[in-house]
Amino acid sequence: MALLEIKDLHAEVEGTEILRGVNLSLNAGEVHAIMGPNGSGKSTLAHVLTGREGYEVTQGEVLFNGQNVLEMEPEERAAVGLFLAFQYPIEIPGVTMTTFLKEAVNAVQKARGGKEVDPMQFTKQMRQRCDELGIPHDMLRRSVNTGFSGGEKKRAEVLQMAALEPTLAVLDETDSGLDIDALRTVADGVNTLRSPERSMLMITHYQRLLNYVVPDYVHVMVKGQVVKTGDKELALRLEEEGYAQFERQAA
Ligand code: ADP
Ligand code: MG
Ligand code: MG
Repeated sequence: MALLEIKDLHAEVEGTEILRGVNLSLNAGEVHAIMGPNGSGKSTLAHVLTGREGYEVTQGEVLFNGQNVLEMEPEERAAVGLFLAFQYPIEIPGVTMTTFLKEAVNAVQKARGGKEVDPMQFTKQMRQRCDELGIPHDMLRRSVNTGFSGGEKKRAEVLQMAALEPTLAVLDETDSGLDIDALRTVADGVNTLRSPERSMLMITHYQRLLNYVVPDYVHVMVKGQVVKTGDKELALRLEEEGYAQFERQAA
């Protein structure tokens, strides 16, 4: 059984159909990339997967470990191991990253019916995670996203993923201002956190990201559908040839 199974998924935003029958299957431990022109529905798919308000599913299904994700509240989705990196990083002055991460982990623990984490042990664990990811410990004491550079925001995001230990991480790299340093941070984080128990769905406009993270599969999304699936070679082809041929096909 696939870890994630998206079948004929249709979704609307404000009455307009954006997803028009998405099919995608992902197994445990795999890293998949979704690429496609601007406006093709990549972010919409990410929002639908994590249950963001305002996105109405009109047809199809999403199964995660065989469970119907579409019937779950966002907290329940997090509890079963689905994670969406924050795309609009909010600043929370006065709340340290450690506190923020601890609250996030406790929320998941609560939804799972588990115990709250021990604060001392958690801090120790987060320092360890920082070491593994090459993130300075200083990040843990800073206020959430306050005065963070683009690269630091990405580090905070990677650290959040490390803290929550999701089974499937959905990363939507919409940020057009990603410099090479931030890009490397995301890539290094993804590579470090890659494991047979963790899958990743990376949504990106940047072929460049795939120079650092080699995906198992690449999907091309055009006009609300996955029109082509291949391996890393497909990403290289897209960089050379663009999306025009796929757009004609979808039209
Ligand atoms: P991508 O991430 O591939 O660039 P999006 O999923 O962001 O694409 O958007 C797909 C389409 O849906 C676009 O035409 C966009 O204008 C539209 N859309 C997305 N979000 C909204 C919204 N909140 N309200 C109205 N239209 C939206
Ligand atoms: Mg867009
Ligand atoms: Mg997008």
